[in-house]
Amino acid sequence: MARMAKQTKFIFITGGVTSSLGKGIAAGSIGLLLKSRGLEVRLQKFDPYINVDPGTMNPFQHGEVYVLDDGSETDLDLGHYERYIDVNLNKLSNVTSGQVYDTVIQRERRGDYLGATVQVIPHITDEIMSRCTRLAKQDENIDIIITEIGGTVGDIEALSFLEAIRQMGLEHGKENVLYIHLTLVPYLETSDELKTKPTQHSVRMLREIGIQPDILICRSSKELSRDIKRKIALFCNVPPEAVIQDLDCETIYEVPILFHRELVDNLVVHYLKLLCKDLDLGKWRRMVDKIKNPKHTVRIAICGKYINLKDAYKSIMESFIHGGIANETKVELVWVSSEDIVDNGAEKYLDNVDGILIPGGFGERGIEGKIEAIKYVRENKIPFLGICLGLQCAIIEYARNICGLENANSFEFNQESKHPVIHLMDEQRHITNMGGTMRLGAYPCEVKRGSLAHKLYGKLKISERHRHRYEVNNDYRDELRDNGMVFSGLSPDEKLVEICELADHPYFIGSQFHPELKSRPMNPHPLFKGLVEAALKYRQSREISPAEVTDVQAKKE
Ligand code: GLN
Repeated sequence: MARMAKQTKFIFITGGVTSSLGKGIAAGSIGLLLKSRGLEVRLQKFDPYINVDPGTMNPFQHGEVYVLDDGSETDLDLGHYERYIDVNLNKLSNVTSGQVYDTVIQRERRGDYLGATVQVIPHITDEIMSRCTRLAKQDENIDIIITEIGGTVGDIEALSFLEAIRQMGLEHGKENVLYIHLTLVPYLETSDELKTKPTQHSVRMLREIGIQPDILICRSSKELSRDIKRKIALFCNVPPEAVIQDLDCETIYEVPILFHRELVDNLVVHYLKLLCKDLDLGKWRRMVDKIKNPKHTVRIAICGKYINLKDAYKSIMESFIHGGIANETKVELVWVSSEDIVDNGAEKYLDNVDGILIPGGFGERGIEGKIEAIKYVRENKIPFLGICLGLQCAIIEYARNICGLENANSFEFNQESKHPVIHLMDEQRHITNMGGTMRLGAYPCEVKRGSLAHKLYGKLKISERHRHRYEVNNDYRDELRDNGMVFSGLSPDEKLVEICELADHPYFIGSQFHPELKSRPMNPHPLFKGLVEAALKYRQSREISPAEVTDVQAKKE
């Protein structure tokens, strides 16, 4: 029997005082709590900037571009959402001013507004409101849509979004719309006090726009006393139990547990009059325990060019936490600039690590350093995972140093190279637009039986997410294969290389796709889990001193 269409409820999360308070993590954590109570939850992010999507933005400024199965290039907060609620989201979940204006302007050009003056209110705000509900129209089983509004209250460019969510409250009624405001309660060392004034100001600004928050989530480095909570409640016009403390904690995966302790899910259920079961966070707690109490440690180097802005590698960092959970191991990341390797050689930076990851990237800078790092780990049998550009560099290194193809390179970096072992796909040759034109999103891959990839995945058919323009050049596949490179993952038509590996190495694997986009804390990605496991073995093998080795050998004999 088809389920009856139900009233979807909406939670809007705004931020105040300063950016980087962890709105995405708060949104994901609330999503997890509600999902654990048996509700069907989706999350979405509204970003007030003008870019149509973040695909054209520099990772140095904006952090990683997170790609979904359907190929949309989205904000990195969508990565948090997927990791918390373990649902694959789609393009409807990331809305920008650019998209909203694009739609409205196209409609105006078609003459759809019948001569009206097209204005921010109501035309832009109506379009934003329609995007608040689109996910529910696509899937009528959804109980709750949590929408995070990017930026901070007070930003000029966010005003139309705030006006639209205010109107959502009027249109759908109090029982169906909840406003949560995330703010900062700073601690002043000199007076040994928590200060509530910034929170009061940011809530006042929200109320001037017509939004009265129902719940305040207060980031703070110290416990909020009952008095402080009461004071915030009084000045911000919410009941004291709706003032939630959001303490700094060891791992972001602990936030749902802290929120539950503060009864956040009870409050939401109460305000939105939701019918749902009690929650059991047992499995999640055990996972967090593993992060907090690891049995082992490994050091893994990330060798890339954006290492000064760690947000550019957000999903990779999270995937290492997940791979660590699976091995009860703490992964210490060592950030190595590929340009430093160009200047000083690989050994200086990689001598003391248990594994290395070369992440994705664009442009020529630091490439020779990455290639040198790969030569070093290949020769010294140090566990290695190359992602996208990392795989491409591994192919270049092998072509140059094993196949003897002098100056082999990627067409991206040297269009004159005699051996373009990485080249542009035919479909890409005529494209001039930058936005949304790469190979994007989930593609199927067939894994070679008996390979390392097969052992890691435990299956022969996989699907992984992509974001790149260049591919392994098939003209060189035979030569690389004859010299020992194993192509252990191919597209079903065998035209595209998806995974490569080396048989005579404990863990040397490259993927043309981005495994980090599909890793989840409760379901770590096999390539990261495998890298951490291999790094652990490598470390343990090194920890046995030469004297012990002789001793063990003597006993055996
Ligand atoms: N620059 C390379 C390409 O476009 C790799 C991209 C990536 O690492 N995501 O193919």
